[in-house]
Amino acid sequence: MQSQKTIELEQAHIFQTYKRQPVVLVKGEGARVWDADGREYLDFVSGLAVCGLGHCHPAVTRAIAHQAGQLVHTSNLYYTVPQAQLAARLAALTGLDRVFFCNSGAEANEGAIKLARKFGGLSHPDRYHIVCTHGSFHGRTLATLAATGQARYRQGFGPMPPGFRHVPFNDTQELKAAVDRQTAAILVEPVQGEGGVNVANSDFMACLAALREETGVLLIFDEIQCGLGRTGRWFAFEHYGVRPDIITLAKSLAAGVPMGAFCAREEVARALSLGDHGTTFGGNPLATAASLAMLAEMERQGLPDQVTSTGKRLTQGLQELAGRHSMIVEVRGLGLMVACQLAGDGAPLVDACRERGLLVNCTAGNVIRFLPPLVVSPAEVDRALGILDLALGAL
Ligand code: PLP
Repeated sequence: MQSQKTIELEQAHIFQTYKRQPVVLVKGEGARVWDADGREYLDFVSGLAVCGLGHCHPAVTRAIAHQAGQLVHTSNLYYTVPQAQLAARLAALTGLDRVFFCNSGAEANEGAIKLARKFGGLSHPDRYHIVCTHGSFHGRTLATLAATGQARYRQGFGPMPPGFRHVPFNDTQELKAAVDRQTAAILVEPVQGEGGVNVANSDFMACLAALREETGVLLIFDEIQCGLGRTGRWFAFEHYGVRPDIITLAKSLAAGVPMGAFCAREEVARALSLGDHGTTFGGNPLATAASLAMLAEMERQGLPDQVTSTGKRLTQGLQELAGRHSMIVEVRGLGLMVACQLAGDGAPLVDACRERGLLVNCTAGNVIRFLPPLVVSPAEVDRALGILDLALGAL
Protein backbone atom coordinates (compact mmCIF):
# COMPACT_ATOMS: atom_id res chain seq x y z
CA MET A 1 0.00 0.00 0.00
CA GLN A 2 2.72 2.41 1.10
CA SER A 3 4.67 1.48 -2.03
CA GLN A 4 1.78 2.25 -4.36
CA LYS A 5 1.07 5.61 -2.70
CA THR A 6 4.77 6.60 -2.85
CA ILE A 7 5.04 5.69 -6.51
CA GLU A 8 1.88 7.71 -7.28
CA LEU A 9 3.21 10.77 -5.44
CA GLU A 10 6.54 10.50 -7.27
CA GLN A 11 4.82 10.22 -10.62
CA ALA A 12 2.57 13.19 -9.89
CA HIS A 13 5.13 15.61 -8.49
CA ILE A 14 8.73 14.76 -9.37
CA PHE A 15 10.39 15.58 -12.69
CA GLN A 16 10.17 12.38 -14.70
CA THR A 17 13.90 12.16 -15.47
CA TYR A 18 14.71 8.87 -13.72
CA LYS A 19 13.87 5.38 -14.90
CA ARG A 20 13.23 3.93 -11.44
CA GLN A 21 12.99 0.30 -10.43
CA PRO A 22 9.51 -0.45 -9.01
CA VAL A 23 10.61 -0.75 -5.37
CA VAL A 24 10.31 1.71 -2.49
CA LEU A 25 13.31 1.22 -0.21
CA VAL A 26 12.84 2.04 3.45
CA LYS A 27 15.71 0.42 5.35
CA GLY A 28 19.23 -0.86 4.90
CA GLU A 29 21.89 -2.73 6.85
CA GLY A 30 25.26 -3.76 5.43
CA ALA A 31 24.72 -5.17 1.95
CA ARG A 32 20.98 -5.64 2.45
CA VAL A 33 18.01 -3.32 1.92
CA TRP A 34 14.29 -3.75 2.54
CA ASP A 35 11.33 -2.34 0.66
CA ALA A 36 8.14 -0.87 2.10
CA ASP A 37 6.44 -4.26 1.85
CA GLY A 38 9.15 -5.94 3.94
CA ARG A 39 10.95 -7.70 1.05
CA GLU A 40 14.69 -8.09 1.51
CA TYR A 41 17.23 -7.52 -1.30
CA LEU A 42 20.94 -8.03 -1.63
CA ASP A 43 22.19 -4.64 -2.77
CA PHE A 44 24.87 -4.86 -5.49
CA VAL A 45 24.33 -1.25 -6.51
CA SER A 46 25.13 0.50 -3.18
CA GLY A 47 23.42 3.71 -4.20
CA LEU A 48 25.59 3.72 -7.35
CA ALA A 49 28.97 3.14 -5.68
CA VAL A 50 28.15 5.39 -2.73
CA CYS A 51 27.57 3.17 0.31
CA GLY A 52 31.05 1.64 0.46
CA LEU A 53 30.68 0.61 4.09
CA GLY A 54 27.22 -0.73 3.34
CA HIS A 55 24.02 0.76 4.69
CA CYS A 56 23.92 2.36 8.12
CA HIS A 57 27.35 1.28 9.30
CA PRO A 58 27.29 1.92 13.08
CA ALA A 59 30.53 3.97 13.04
CA VAL A 60 29.12 6.31 10.39
CA THR A 61 25.65 6.47 11.94
CA ARG A 62 27.22 7.38 15.30
CA ALA A 63 29.43 10.08 13.74
CA ILE A 64 26.47 11.61 11.86
CA ALA A 65 24.22 11.54 14.94
CA HIS A 66 26.95 13.04 17.12
CA GLN A 67 27.77 15.82 14.65
CA ALA A 68 24.06 16.54 14.08
CA GLY A 69 23.80 17.21 17.79
CA GLN A 70 26.82 19.56 17.77
CA LEU A 71 26.83 21.63 14.59
CA VAL A 72 25.39 20.76 11.19
CA HIS A 73 26.35 23.74 9.07
CA THR A 74 28.36 26.95 9.32
CA SER A 75 29.21 28.08 5.73
CA ASN A 76 32.82 28.54 4.70
CA LEU A 77 33.04 31.93 6.40
CA TYR A 78 34.37 30.02 9.42
CA TYR A 79 36.81 27.21 10.21
CA THR A 80 35.45 23.87 11.39
CA VAL A 81 37.32 20.99 12.99
CA PRO A 82 36.13 18.03 10.87
CA GLN A 83 36.71 19.91 7.59
CA ALA A 84 40.33 20.72 8.47
CA GLN A 85 40.95 17.17 9.71
CA LEU A 86 39.44 15.62 6.60
CA ALA A 87 41.50 17.84 4.31
CA ALA A 88 44.69 16.63 6.02
CA ARG A 89 43.49 13.01 5.74
CA LEU A 90 42.72 13.30 2.02
CA ALA A 91 46.00 15.06 1.32
CA ALA A 92 47.86 12.18 3.00
CA LEU A 93 45.82 9.53 1.13
CA THR A 94 46.02 11.10 -2.34
CA GLY A 95 49.56 12.49 -2.06
CA LEU A 96 48.14 15.81 -3.30
CA ASP A 97 48.49 18.91 -1.17
CA ARG A 98 45.21 20.77 -1.17
CA VAL A 99 41.52 19.93 -1.17
CA PHE A 100 38.46 21.91 -2.22
CA PHE A 101 35.19 20.53 -0.83
CA CYS A 102 31.93 20.69 -2.77
CA ASN A 103 28.69 18.72 -2.90
CA SER A 104 28.60 16.32 -5.83
CA GLY A 105 30.65 14.68 -8.54
CA ALA A 106 29.61 17.11 -11.25
CA GLU A 107 30.60 19.99 -9.03
CA ALA A 108 33.98 18.39 -8.29
CA ASN A 109 34.69 18.02 -12.02
CA GLU A 110 33.37 21.50 -12.76
CA GLY A 111 35.81 22.88 -10.16
CA ALA A 112 38.69 20.80 -11.54
CA ILE A 113 37.97 22.14 -15.05
CA LYS A 114 37.95 25.72 -13.72
CA LEU A 115 41.23 25.07 -11.90
CA ALA A 116 42.85 23.59 -15.02
CA ARG A 117 41.72 26.57 -17.13
CA LYS A 118 43.02 29.07 -14.61
CA PHE A 119 46.35 27.24 -14.32
CA GLY A 120 46.66 26.87 -18.11
CA GLY A 121 45.93 30.55 -18.55
CA LEU A 122 48.93 31.42 -16.42
CA SER A 123 51.26 30.11 -19.15
CA HIS A 124 49.21 31.08 -22.24
CA PRO A 125 45.82 32.85 -22.60
CA ASP A 126 44.57 30.21 -25.09
CA ARG A 127 45.53 27.26 -22.94
CA TYR A 128 42.04 26.23 -21.83
CA HIS A 129 41.27 23.11 -23.84
CA ILE A 130 40.47 19.84 -22.06
CA VAL A 131 40.99 16.49 -23.80
CA CYS A 132 38.50 13.84 -22.66
CA THR A 133 37.65 10.29 -23.75
CA HIS A 134 34.79 8.66 -25.61
CA GLY A 135 32.45 6.75 -23.31
CA SER A 136 33.32 8.87 -20.27
CA PHE A 137 30.82 10.34 -17.84
CA HIS A 138 31.67 13.42 -15.83
CA GLY A 139 28.34 14.90 -14.71
CA ARG A 140 25.31 16.94 -15.77
CA THR A 141 26.38 20.58 -15.46
CA LEU A 142 27.10 22.25 -18.80
CA ALA A 143 30.90 22.02 -18.58
CA THR A 144 30.83 18.42 -17.34
CA LEU A 145 28.32 17.51 -20.07
CA ALA A 146 30.73 19.04 -22.58
CA ALA A 147 33.48 16.88 -21.07
CA THR A 148 31.35 13.72 -21.06
CA GLY A 149 32.17 11.49 -24.01
CA GLN A 150 28.58 10.40 -24.75
CA ALA A 151 26.65 12.71 -27.08
CA ARG A 152 23.22 11.49 -25.96
CA TYR A 153 23.53 13.31 -22.60
CA ARG A 154 24.06 16.64 -24.41
CA GLN A 155 21.08 16.45 -26.76
CA GLY A 156 18.84 19.49 -26.47
CA PHE A 157 21.13 21.36 -24.08
CA GLY A 158 23.41 23.13 -26.54
CA PRO A 159 25.37 25.16 -27.16
CA MET A 160 28.06 23.58 -25.00
CA PRO A 161 30.94 25.56 -23.51
CA PRO A 162 33.84 25.44 -25.99
CA GLY A 163 37.25 23.87 -25.45
CA PHE A 164 36.49 20.15 -25.04
CA ARG A 165 37.63 17.44 -27.43
CA HIS A 166 37.33 13.68 -27.23
CA VAL A 167 39.57 10.77 -28.16
CA PRO A 168 38.82 7.04 -28.05
CA PHE A 169 39.51 5.53 -24.62
CA ASN A 170 42.82 3.60 -24.50
CA ASP A 171 43.94 4.99 -27.90
CA THR A 172 47.43 6.41 -27.41
CA GLN A 173 47.87 7.60 -31.02
CA GLU A 174 44.69 9.68 -30.99
CA LEU A 175 45.54 10.96 -27.54
CA LYS A 176 48.97 12.18 -28.63
CA ALA A 177 47.46 13.81 -31.73
CA ALA A 178 44.83 15.66 -29.67
CA VAL A 179 47.22 17.35 -27.24
CA ASP A 180 48.62 20.68 -28.44
CA ARG A 181 49.76 24.00 -26.99
CA GLN A 182 46.14 24.94 -26.21
CA THR A 183 45.60 21.85 -24.06
CA ALA A 184 45.36 22.69 -20.38
CA ALA A 185 44.46 19.22 -19.14
CA ILE A 186 43.50 15.66 -19.98
CA LEU A 187 40.48 14.42 -18.02
CA VAL A 188 40.18 10.64 -17.63
CA GLU A 189 38.33 8.09 -15.50
CA PRO A 190 40.95 5.35 -14.90
CA VAL A 191 37.99 2.96 -14.89
CA GLN A 192 34.99 4.30 -16.78
CA GLY A 193 31.82 3.64 -14.82
CA GLU A 194 28.67 4.78 -16.64
CA GLY A 195 30.38 4.04 -19.97
CA GLY A 196 30.28 0.32 -19.13
CA VAL A 197 33.16 -0.42 -16.71
CA ASN A 198 36.06 0.03 -19.11
CA VAL A 199 39.47 -0.29 -17.49
CA ALA A 200 42.31 1.93 -18.75
CA ASN A 201 45.26 -0.11 -19.99
CA SER A 202 48.77 0.56 -18.76
CA ASP A 203 49.99 1.86 -22.16
CA PHE A 204 47.31 4.53 -22.10
CA MET A 205 48.16 5.57 -18.55
CA ALA A 206 51.89 5.60 -19.36
CA CYS A 207 51.13 7.75 -22.41
CA LEU A 208 49.26 10.22 -20.17
CA ALA A 209 52.29 10.45 -17.89
CA ALA A 210 54.65 10.93 -20.84
CA LEU A 211 52.48 13.68 -22.34
CA ARG A 212 52.50 15.50 -19.02
CA GLU A 213 56.28 15.23 -18.92
CA GLU A 214 56.68 16.52 -22.51
CA THR A 215 54.05 19.26 -22.63
CA GLY A 216 53.24 20.28 -19.05
CA VAL A 217 49.58 19.32 -19.59
CA LEU A 218 47.73 18.59 -16.34
CA LEU A 219 46.29 15.15 -15.64
CA ILE A 220 42.87 15.18 -14.02
CA PHE A 221 41.65 11.77 -12.89
CA ASP A 222 37.94 11.49 -12.23
CA GLU A 223 37.89 8.89 -9.45
CA ILE A 224 34.37 9.77 -8.40
CA GLN A 225 33.22 6.21 -9.04
CA CYS A 226 36.45 4.19 -9.09
CA GLY A 227 38.21 5.87 -6.14
CA LEU A 228 38.23 5.31 -2.39
CA GLY A 229 38.86 1.58 -2.30
CA ARG A 230 36.44 0.49 -5.05
CA THR A 231 39.14 -1.10 -7.24
CA GLY A 232 41.13 -2.69 -4.40
CA ARG A 233 43.47 0.26 -3.88
CA TRP A 234 42.67 3.53 -2.17
CA PHE A 235 42.72 5.09 -5.64
CA ALA A 236 42.64 3.48 -9.07
CA PHE A 237 45.69 5.51 -10.17
CA GLU A 238 47.80 3.41 -7.76
CA HIS A 239 47.37 0.39 -10.08
CA TYR A 240 49.34 2.29 -12.73
CA GLY A 241 51.81 4.29 -10.65
CA VAL A 242 50.64 7.54 -12.27
CA ARG A 243 49.58 10.18 -9.76
CA PRO A 244 47.35 12.88 -11.27
CA ASP A 245 47.84 16.62 -10.75
CA ILE A 246 44.17 16.89 -9.84
CA ILE A 247 41.84 14.15 -8.61
CA THR A 248 38.07 14.44 -8.28
CA LEU A 249 36.09 12.50 -5.68
CA ALA A 250 32.43 12.27 -4.62
CA LYS A 251 29.96 9.36 -4.39
CA SER A 252 31.32 7.27 -1.45
CA LEU A 253 33.36 10.15 0.00
CA ALA A 254 30.97 10.82 2.89
CA ALA A 255 29.36 7.37 3.06
CA GLY A 256 26.04 8.58 1.61
CA VAL A 257 25.96 12.16 2.87
CA PRO A 258 26.31 14.24 -0.30
CA MET A 259 29.85 15.53 -0.74
CA GLY A 260 32.42 16.01 -3.50
CA ALA A 261 36.00 17.21 -3.54
CA PHE A 262 38.88 17.96 -5.83
CA CYS A 263 42.47 17.71 -4.66
CA ALA A 264 45.52 19.18 -6.41
CA ARG A 265 49.23 19.50 -5.93
CA GLU A 266 50.40 22.77 -4.45
CA GLU A 267 51.68 24.51 -7.58
CA VAL A 268 48.40 23.85 -9.39
CA ALA A 269 46.19 24.65 -6.40
CA ARG A 270 47.81 28.06 -6.08
CA ALA A 271 46.18 29.09 -9.39
CA LEU A 272 42.93 29.57 -7.45
CA SER A 273 43.20 32.50 -5.08
CA LEU A 274 40.87 34.28 -2.67
CA GLY A 275 37.34 34.52 -4.04
CA ASP A 276 38.05 32.49 -7.20
CA HIS A 277 35.77 29.58 -6.28
CA GLY A 278 33.31 28.80 -3.51
CA THR A 279 30.18 27.02 -2.32
CA THR A 280 27.80 27.44 0.60
CA PHE A 281 27.55 23.80 1.67
CA GLY A 282 30.91 22.36 0.56
CA GLY A 283 32.73 20.53 3.34
CA ASN A 284 30.12 21.21 5.98
CA PRO A 285 30.59 19.63 9.41
CA LEU A 286 27.99 16.90 8.92
CA ALA A 287 29.45 15.60 5.65
CA THR A 288 33.06 15.86 6.74
CA ALA A 289 32.39 14.12 10.07
CA ALA A 290 30.71 11.27 8.17
CA SER A 291 33.67 11.07 5.80
CA LEU A 292 36.24 11.00 8.62
CA ALA A 293 34.37 8.17 10.31
CA MET A 294 34.16 6.25 7.04
CA LEU A 295 37.86 6.60 6.21
CA ALA A 296 38.84 5.54 9.73
CA GLU A 297 36.64 2.46 9.46
CA MET A 298 37.97 1.60 6.00
CA GLU A 299 41.48 1.76 7.37
CA ARG A 300 40.60 -0.24 10.48
CA GLN A 301 39.10 -3.04 8.36
CA GLY A 302 41.90 -2.93 5.73
CA LEU A 303 39.13 -2.57 3.18
CA PRO A 304 41.06 -2.00 -0.05
CA ASP A 305 42.84 -5.37 0.39
CA GLN A 306 39.59 -7.09 1.28
CA VAL A 307 38.06 -5.63 -1.92
CA THR A 308 40.80 -7.28 -3.98
CA SER A 309 39.88 -10.68 -2.60
CA THR A 310 36.06 -10.34 -2.74
CA GLY A 311 36.40 -8.70 -6.17
CA LYS A 312 38.36 -11.70 -7.41
CA ARG A 313 35.70 -14.06 -6.07
CA LEU A 314 32.96 -12.07 -7.83
CA THR A 315 34.88 -11.87 -11.13
CA GLN A 316 35.74 -15.57 -11.10
CA GLY A 317 32.13 -16.46 -10.30
CA LEU A 318 30.91 -14.31 -13.19
CA GLN A 319 33.44 -15.90 -15.53
CA GLU A 320 32.17 -19.29 -14.50
CA LEU A 321 28.59 -18.14 -15.24
CA ALA A 322 29.76 -16.76 -18.61
CA GLY A 323 30.99 -20.28 -19.45
CA ARG A 324 27.47 -21.66 -18.92
CA HIS A 325 25.27 -18.77 -20.10
CA SER A 326 25.96 -17.56 -23.63
CA MET A 327 24.07 -14.34 -22.86
CA ILE A 328 27.25 -13.10 -21.09
CA VAL A 329 29.83 -12.20 -23.72
CA GLU A 330 32.48 -10.59 -21.51
CA VAL A 331 33.34 -10.07 -17.83
CA ARG A 332 35.56 -7.12 -16.96
CA GLY A 333 36.45 -4.77 -14.14
CA LEU A 334 38.78 -4.12 -11.26
CA GLY A 335 38.17 -4.92 -7.58
CA LEU A 336 34.47 -4.52 -6.81
CA MET A 337 33.74 -2.48 -9.92
CA VAL A 338 32.77 -5.35 -12.20
CA ALA A 339 30.54 -5.79 -15.23
CA CYS A 340 29.10 -8.39 -17.56
CA GLN A 341 28.69 -7.35 -21.15
CA LEU A 342 25.54 -9.04 -22.44
CA ALA A 343 24.63 -10.10 -25.96
CA GLY A 344 21.40 -8.07 -25.73
CA ASP A 345 19.42 -5.58 -23.64
CA GLY A 346 20.26 -5.77 -19.92
CA ALA A 347 16.90 -4.57 -18.55
CA PRO A 348 15.17 -8.01 -18.44
CA LEU A 349 18.10 -9.44 -16.44
CA VAL A 350 17.94 -6.53 -13.95
CA ASP A 351 14.21 -7.30 -13.50
CA ALA A 352 14.81 -11.05 -13.19
CA CYS A 353 17.48 -10.47 -10.53
CA ARG A 354 15.33 -8.02 -8.58
CA GLU A 355 12.37 -10.42 -8.60
CA ARG A 356 14.72 -12.97 -6.97
CA GLY A 357 16.07 -10.54 -4.38
CA LEU A 358 19.20 -9.07 -5.97
CA LEU A 359 19.64 -5.44 -7.01
CA VAL A 360 22.01 -4.80 -9.92
CA ASN A 361 22.29 -1.95 -12.40
CA CYS A 362 22.36 -1.87 -16.18
CA THR A 363 24.47 0.78 -17.89
CA ALA A 364 25.31 1.53 -21.52
CA GLY A 365 22.26 -0.54 -22.56
CA ASN A 366 23.70 -4.03 -22.31
CA VAL A 367 26.22 -3.94 -19.46
CA ILE A 368 25.22 -5.31 -16.05
CA ARG A 369 27.23 -3.44 -13.44
CA PHE A 370 28.04 -4.85 -10.00
CA LEU A 371 28.96 -2.27 -7.35
CA PRO A 372 28.36 -4.03 -4.03
CA PRO A 373 29.38 -2.35 -0.78
CA LEU A 374 33.12 -2.76 -0.20
CA VAL A 375 32.27 -4.67 2.98
CA VAL A 376 30.30 -7.36 1.12
CA SER A 377 31.15 -10.81 2.49
CA PRO A 378 32.27 -13.83 0.41
CA ALA A 379 28.98 -15.55 1.38
CA GLU A 380 26.99 -12.58 0.04
CA VAL A 381 28.99 -12.65 -3.20
CA ASP A 382 28.15 -16.35 -3.56
CA ARG A 383 24.48 -15.68 -2.87
CA ALA A 384 24.40 -12.95 -5.52
CA LEU A 385 26.05 -15.28 -8.04
CA GLY A 386 23.47 -17.97 -7.24
CA ILE A 387 20.59 -15.54 -7.86
CA LEU A 388 22.20 -14.32 -11.08
CA ASP A 389 22.57 -17.93 -12.24
CA LEU A 390 18.84 -18.52 -11.63
CA ALA A 391 17.87 -15.26 -13.32
CA LEU A 392 20.01 -16.03 -16.38
CA GLY A 393 18.51 -19.52 -16.54
CA ALA A 394 14.99 -18.09 -16.41
CA LEU A 395 15.47 -15.73 -19.38
N1 PLP B 1 32.07 11.31 -12.61
C1 PLP B 1 31.83 9.99 -12.59
C2 PLP B 1 32.94 9.05 -12.96
C3 PLP B 1 30.58 9.49 -12.23
O1 PLP B 1 30.37 8.17 -12.22
C4 PLP B 1 29.57 10.41 -11.88
C5 PLP B 1 28.22 9.93 -11.53
O2 PLP B 1 27.83 8.85 -11.86
C6 PLP B 1 29.86 11.77 -11.90
C7 PLP B 1 31.11 12.19 -12.27
C8 PLP B 1 28.81 12.78 -11.52
O3 PLP B 1 28.58 12.71 -10.15
P1 PLP B 1 27.25 13.33 -9.51
O4 PLP B 1 26.10 12.49 -9.98
O5 PLP B 1 27.46 13.25 -8.04
O6 PLP B 1 27.16 14.74 -9.99
